[in-house]
Amino acid sequence: MNGNQARILALARGERLPREELARLIATRSPEDCETAASLARETALREFGRKVYFRGLIEFTNYCRNDCLYCGIRRSNRAALRYRLSEEEILLCCRWGHEQGLRTFVLQGGEDPYFTDERVVSIVRAVKAAYPDCAVTLSIGEKPYESYARFREAGADRYLLRHETASPAHYGKLHPPEMSFENRVRCLHDLIALGFQTGCGMMVGAPFQTPENLAEDLLFMQDLKPQMIGMGPFLPHKDTPFRDEPAGTAEDTLFLLSIVRLMHPRVLLPATTALGTLLPGGRERGILAGANVVMPNISPDEARARYQLYNNKLGTAGAAADNLAALRESIRAIGYEPDPGRGDYRWEDKQ
Ligand code: SAH
Repeated sequence: MNGNQARILALARGERLPREELARLIATRSPEDCETAASLARETALREFGRKVYFRGLIEFTNYCRNDCLYCGIRRSNRAALRYRLSEEEILLCCRWGHEQGLRTFVLQGGEDPYFTDERVVSIVRAVKAAYPDCAVTLSIGEKPYESYARFREAGADRYLLRHETASPAHYGKLHPPEMSFENRVRCLHDLIALGFQTGCGMMVGAPFQTPENLAEDLLFMQDLKPQMIGMGPFLPHKDTPFRDEPAGTAEDTLFLLSIVRLMHPRVLLPATTALGTLLPGGRERGILAGANVVMPNISPDEARARYQLYNNKLGTAGAAADNLAALRESIRAIGYEPDPGRGDYRWEDKQ
């Protein structure tokens, strides 16, 4: 048995590998290693969740952003972006439609838009929870002070997605403007966890300047943080950002990392991302077969979907939301899994 096979088996047994071992595994993985990791990860997901894939309704409610992340198509310096924001009423209409479709989690994602003050976010969260008490609300609206997160939680928000982006402060600095810091990102994650949010972190695979050592650090960081969700997709360049000429991450790397993450976090809620589906036809389905167990169909209004471009050629921006959702359900069934309409909360009991 070669070193990588042994490393993968060690991870599957719940062992902690040192940084150099993880970096070596990532740097030297063969197609056979990917196959081994995927089949073990798939077994792990089947053991923990059965043949179920959780569906989350994603509502991209604003693409205004005060931040300037170098990779992101809605960064404030992108003058070419056509900006929009949804009203509370429009957000509620998305939820109504999603609820009719059976969705029981709504993910409200957006840029860091100063228009959406804490008061406005609280009002939206309260309204969604009042109208749909059987649903979970996930927020993904970036870095805020502790007090803001506390108010969102008080208003009834259940979950929060905030990717850490990279666990290396030096790498973080290459992806973000000087006014942003890894320290604040991590502070946010710790606040969210302390407030009782089901919390998600994660990173892009193949981000510019990323090394296998960086990814190994990401894995160790997440092993220590113990998030309930991990969002991980390939980096895809956007033409109106400084990273326009950087190569995209690969599907193989992303799928391998998904499998490794599943082995290290048997219970984590792990989406097969839209970015993976954009990079590779059938990518999300491949993600499920590599150990992911969540998909996040976009239920934003059509005009909004076309404008929320973090990267180019995003999947699901053409066609009606209903058709995209139906097609995704069908393709999940076609690989032998059942779309799960439930809230699909993290199972806190007998924690990993
Ligand atoms: N503003 C919020 C949420 C929106 S961005 C926040 O900062 O959390 C959501 C995620 O999209 C980011 O965390 C990033 O990892 C990912 N993303 C941004 N630009 C991307 C790109 N060009 N390719 C792939 N993923 C990207």
